[in-house]
Formats: sequence, structure tokens, C-alpha cells
Amino acid sequence: MSAPDPHAQIQELRQQLQSLLEAAHDNERKLDRFDALERRLMAVSSMEELVTLLLVECRDDFGLDAAELWLLDPEGELRRALPTLPMAKAPRLLEHHGPLKDIFGAVRTTRLVGPGHGEDLVAQAFEPGAGMRSAALLPLIRQGLLIGSLHFGARDPERYDAVSGTKFLDRLCAIAAIAIESMLNRERLRRAGMTDGLTGVHNRRYFDHRSLIEFSQAVRHRYPLACLFLDVDHFKAVNDRHGHQVGDEVLRQVGGLILRSLRTGDLAARYGGEEFVVLLPRTDLAGAREVAERIRALVQDAPFVTPEGGTLSATLSAGLAMLPAGAVSFAELLTAADRALYAAKRAGRNRTVAHGDDTGAAAA
Ligand code: GH3
Ligand code: MG
Ligand code: MG
Repeated sequence: MSAPDPHAQIQELRQQLQSLLEAAHDNERKLDRFDALERRLMAVSSMEELVTLLLVECRDDFGLDAAELWLLDPEGELRRALPTLPMAKAPRLLEHHGPLKDIFGAVRTTRLVGPGHGEDLVAQAFEPGAGMRSAALLPLIRQGLLIGSLHFGARDPERYDAVSGTKFLDRLCAIAAIAIESMLNRERLRRAGMTDGLTGVHNRRYFDHRSLIEFSQAVRHRYPLACLFLDVDHFKAVNDRHGHQVGDEVLRQVGGLILRSLRTGDLAARYGGEEFVVLLPRTDLAGAREVAERIRALVQDAPFVTPEGGTLSATLSAGLAMLPAGAVSFAELLTAADRALYAAKRAGRNRTVAHGDDTGAAAA
């Protein structure tokens, strides 16, 4: 047996040292990238920014072929909030836990999957036909609950092998979960700031803001805009007879009946007290009158339930005005609708009057 060649040994040690150094550099670069990503995750200011960061920038920065975000949304809260956001890529909203359970089971830790180790999950985690071969599946957990998952996919079957460490990814998903939860809370607060707490329709502040946008769009694109004022009849008497709480309950139900009668692009708000305002873009006079009458009939026929289990009935009057007829500013449109409402009250209540209708009573 020949003696070991010291040169060859030194050479081998050098190579080992070199590859250790490279691995250390590699980890350092990875750490820097994750560090930068974490800082940005903690600083995002909107849901769009957060989703873009997780799905588009992560994918590009880490050289991934696909990224997916799944969020649990059993109440449909996100479904209502997200479609209005301009997003490069949208998260998938889950109505129930099933798909998350299929991936994480009871374990709920980061899973690296690929050929021979959880291959079937790779296909489940991405859109059909995405062609991913290996993936990192990260559970998003807040306060012990699985709220969603983040999936990073690669066409390279070896990108995520079964034995790689997941320390960076574990940390990333913990921080992503915090960022998502705080963004959802912020979104809830924002929505609460636009909504009337009693009736569930928009509040006056939101209406004042949105109505100007609706008005200028209708003017610019030359489509009709209908404005409806709705006021509960003799509401003071409801309060006097049944108490303020019953009055509140009537208002709550009226708010619900109004919302039920509208389409997606319509805007309803509580203008004040027992008065509601509705804007119907792209709706002509006949269409708007129909909506007003539908709401009026719903309220007239509704049994409003009292705490004692009895029922009471209520009615409302509606005033209607149209852009372009007789309005050059939004204030004028509102005034015209308000005048029509006043005419409806004077003509006997529980009716709809449009600006320009001859009610007889209006001229009195
Ligand atoms: P009209 O048919 O002419 O509209 O008569 P009205 O009694 O409805 O009108 P009026 O303006 O005289 O009275 C409105 C009442 O609505 C007085 C006010 O106390 C009551 N009101 C306003 N806001 C609320 C509320 O949030 N809850 C309850 N319960 N009552 C309210
Ligand atoms: Mg009233
Ligand atoms: Mg009133």
C-alpha cells in the first residue's frame, strides 16, 4: 500500500474548504434575501401589495416557476373585498378546510414534495396544467389556526428534495401569516369605517365620497344616473309607540330590504336618521321607478317584529331624480330627489314621486 500523497490530501482539503465556503456564502445570500423579504412583508400597506409581494416578487426573486396563495374564507368576507382590488395574481379563496387538510393533514409544518415524496400533492397545490415537479408547501398559521397556505413550485424535480432544511421557509411562512392577518384586520377596519353600524348599508361619509365619483363618471360617459331618497313614514310615531329599540330594529330591516333590491353596481347609504339614499348608475327613469316601487312594496309588506313577539307595519316614501334631466351638479341632483320626496310626503306618503311628476299635492 503506497503512502498517502500529501499534495493530493491538501488538494482535497482545499476543495472541501472551498465548497464549505461556497455553501456558507450561498446561505448568507439566501439569508439576506429572506431578510429583505421579511422587512418588506412587515411594511406592506395594502392587500394588493401583500399578495403581489408573496406571489409575484417572491417567485421572481427566488427563481421559482410558480407561486400560489390559498386563503381560508368561510364567511365570504375576502370574496367580497378582493375582487375590487387590481391584482396581478389573485389568491385562491377556500370555502372550507378540505384542501388545506389534504395537504397538511394534522402535522401542519412546511412540506417539501416532489417525485417519490408526496408527488401527488405537487399537482394539487397548483393550477391544473402548471407543470410543476417539486414544491415547498408552507402552512399559514395564526393563533393555532390554519388560515391558508403558500406554495412555491419548480419545474425542476430536484429543487425541493425531501432532505433539505426548511428553516428559512418556516420563518417566512410565520411572518407571511402575521402580515396577512394584520392586513385582513386593517381591511375589516376600513370596511367598518365605510358602513353604518345599525343598518349595514354604507354611511354618509362614504356616500359623500363615492357619489361624486359616480356623478362625474355618469357625466363623462353620458349614461343616466338615478338618485333615490327614501324616508320612513311617521317614524317618530314608531319610536313613540314602541320605543327607540324597536325603531332601531325597523331601520335595520329596512336597510336589509333596500340592499336586497339592488344590483352590484348600485350604491345605498344611510343619509341620516330614518332617511336612506340610493344611486343607480346606468338606470333610466322607468327602471329607477321600478326599483323604488319594489323597495316601497317590500317595506309595506314586511312584518317588523317587536321584542315582545308582536309585529308592526311601516311604510316609506320615495323621491326620485335623474341625471341628466334637470341636474348639472350632484348637489342639484340630490336637491331634486329631496324635493320629490317632500312631494311624496305631501301627496299622502307610502308612494314614489319622481322629480317632474305632477302630484297635484306638490303644487299646493
Ligand atoms: P315623516 O313621515 O314626515 O318622515 O315623519 P317622521 O316622523 O318619519 O319624521 P320626523 O323627521 O318628524 O322624525 C324622524 C324620527 O326618526 C325622529 C328621530 O328620533 C327618529 N330617528 C332618527 N334616527 C334614529 C335612529 O337611529 N333610531 C331610532 N330609533 N330613531 C331614529
Ligand atoms: Mg320620516
Ligand atoms: Mg326624515
